[in-house]
Amino acid sequence: MIDTALLAQEARKLGLNLTEEQLNDFDRFAELLDYWNKQINLTAIKDPTEMVYKHFADSLTALAAAPMPPGASFVDVGTGGGFPGLPLLIARRDLHGVLLDSTQKKLLFVDRVLTGLNLTQQGRTLHMRAEEAGRTLNLRNRFDFSVSRAVANLRELSEYCLPLTKVGGTFVALKGSKAKEELREAQQAIRLLGGEVADVQRYFLGEMGERHVIVIRKTSPTPPKFPRASAKIAKEPLTTAE
Ligand code: SAM
Repeated sequence: MIDTALLAQEARKLGLNLTEEQLNDFDRFAELLDYWNKQINLTAIKDPTEMVYKHFADSLTALAAAPMPPGASFVDVGTGGGFPGLPLLIARRDLHGVLLDSTQKKLLFVDRVLTGLNLTQQGRTLHMRAEEAGRTLNLRNRFDFSVSRAVANLRELSEYCLPLTKVGGTFVALKGSKAKEELREAQQAIRLLGGEVADVQRYFLGEMGERHVIVIRKTSPTPPKFPRASAKIAKEPLTTAE
């Protein structure tokens, strides 16, 4: 269904050599996405070439910007139809991922892909809000990496992701062209939540435009009062020193 040679080429540009088997897994994932997208709304992207760039290659920029050591654990916050989490699990069979979302029906699709691609040893879904997960004992401070795409602005997203990330771990935010602006508005929140901006990488995905990957290291524990309740996160932005 997808042009696997194109995906292989885009992945190579990101420093990843995908095997024949991995390319087939991406192709199977695209087929499942195409089929289930007709039953439940998973993505507006339907064209196979766009899928390669906007879903698969875009997800893989996380690995290029923030290389994950063998066996690392990650949580994908607001995974939706499985992005970036599923491409990370396909490209790196050694990783362990929790694919978290507050919408159950999307996770049923993600479960089908995990099963269909034999990824159930590596990945599992979790139906929960990120703020709730961040206050749950066995999830808080638990992951080597937190990753997220298209879920919230960086300031709010930091409050979702940093509590879940271990001290010494990394929060990776996949962002579009307004990344720098978002970063400016999120600086204070990132500091308050125990993070430090380590890097911002820019990628051009074919003709699909400019993408940014913001890499934030968790350097100190997130204070116990975070994450706050959803309404507070939205209404009281962490912009002023507390
Ligand atoms: N990350 C996927 C992608 O890039 O294609 C999905 C993006 S979709 C626009 C946003 C997803 O984030 C939705 O599936 C939504 O249910 C989920 N979401 C939003 N806020 C959330 C929260 N606080 N906790 C968990 N999931 C959340």
